[in-house]
Amino acid sequence: MNDNAHIDVVIVGGGLAGLTAAIHLSKKGIAVLVIEKNNYPKHKVCGEYVSNEILPYLQSLAIDPYRHGAKKISRFLLSTPNSKSIETQLPLGGFGISRYTLDYLLWQKARASGAQCVQDTVTDIQFVNNTFEIKTKNKQYQSKMAIGAYGKRSNLDSTLHRDFITKKSPFLAVKTHLKGDFPSDLVALHNFKGGYCGLSKTENDNINACYITNYKAFKPYKNIQNFQEKVLCKNRFLKEVFENSIAVFDKPLTISQVSFYTKKPVEQHILMCGDSAGMIHPLAGNGMSMAIRSGRLVSQLLIDYFSEKKATRATLEKKYKQQWNTAFKRRLKTGHIIASLFEMEYISEIMLMALKGFPSVLPKIIEQTHGKPLIIK
Ligand SMILES: Cc1cc2nc3c(=O)[nH]c(=O)nc-3n(C[C@H](O)[C@H](O)[C@H](O)COP(=O)(O)OP(=O)(O)OC[C@H]3O[C@@H](n4cnc5c(N)ncnc54)[C@H](O)[C@@H]3O)c2cc1C
Repeated sequence: MNDNAHIDVVIVGGGLAGLTAAIHLSKKGIAVLVIEKNNYPKHKVCGEYVSNEILPYLQSLAIDPYRHGAKKISRFLLSTPNSKSIETQLPLGGFGISRYTLDYLLWQKARASGAQCVQDTVTDIQFVNNTFEIKTKNKQYQSKMAIGAYGKRSNLDSTLHRDFITKKSPFLAVKTHLKGDFPSDLVALHNFKGGYCGLSKTENDNINACYITNYKAFKPYKNIQNFQEKVLCKNRFLKEVFENSIAVFDKPLTISQVSFYTKKPVEQHILMCGDSAGMIHPLAGNGMSMAIRSGRLVSQLLIDYFSEKKATRATLEKKYKQQWNTAFKRRLKTGHIIASLFEMEYISEIMLMALKGFPSVLPKIIEQTHGKPLIIK
């Protein structure tokens, strides 16, 4: 595909949502261009536990995480800052795989499926005369349709004047890989004062430790090492892992301004997908599954749009908004409520005691923040 070649759909961002859509659409003969600012393979800040809800869909796209060493995860352990804990079987279960491997796998698959994938940064998108004009650092493109799959926060949110981008977020996140003992079939979520840390194993037997905290909690400790020792390690589960394992990375990866503000699934005719459309608290949901699921949703609607002679852009956008809200709005809301409750230490201790008394309730709560498995015919 050269610069002026025919493009049906430009996908901005080659993360999980964008690459899933690229594979799905290309397999149906739709001309797709993915523009991703980073080179792959690359580590990303993420908990790296993927819910099984999207496994049948990935397999239908000929992607099998287990062929790449993914760890099967069936148990969930939750603890409070005071190390009170509860464990349950996960209703659906999931798998552990690094973003380094998963995103690269999808990137290669998108290329093999016929999508054009370029490494460049999109700096502007304009909708003019029923066509998208996309500017990158190096080139310009035109396309009939545009998918925004550029993640939770990007330069483009400012360019598009999206409401949430002007609001500051108090959250920052840290991720590292560790070598040490940890059960392969477990995902753990350990709360500490001012945040929570997820632990699970990845395909290469590393323990992924990924935590979210807020600036107020972090600031007095000045650096990551100090914060981990003085705050995270007050939770005995985290202490055990951090003190008995060896860091794999030279230094942890960090991101700031992690925001969970409400967004719109369609913005200036761009169909937003994954975190660009809305992000769930990792404490109470599975953003990766939502991203992949939204990639499927947008692809199915675009395939219908391109195959129906009388289809209009207005109907497509209306359907996408409706179906996106049906699939994700309730999950986002439930996730938000649970995360807010866990921010209050005292409440989280009471909740955990209550859950211990009624152990069948926890799997039900988990179900509320997870989607039903996708059935692929
Ligand atoms: C701390 C933390 C822990 C998490 N843990 C989990 C977990 O355990 N399980 C889970 O299911 N979810 C988890 N999530 C959520 C999950 O990471 C996201 O929901 C998921 O990555 C969303 O995928 P995406 O494709 O929408 O975005 P991304 O994966 O972020 O992809 C967006 C892509 O767009 C690219 N991009 C951005 N701007 C531009 C531009 N202008 N031009 C070109 N490219 C651009 C970026 O480089 C990036 O590759 C976690 C999130 C955080 C912050």
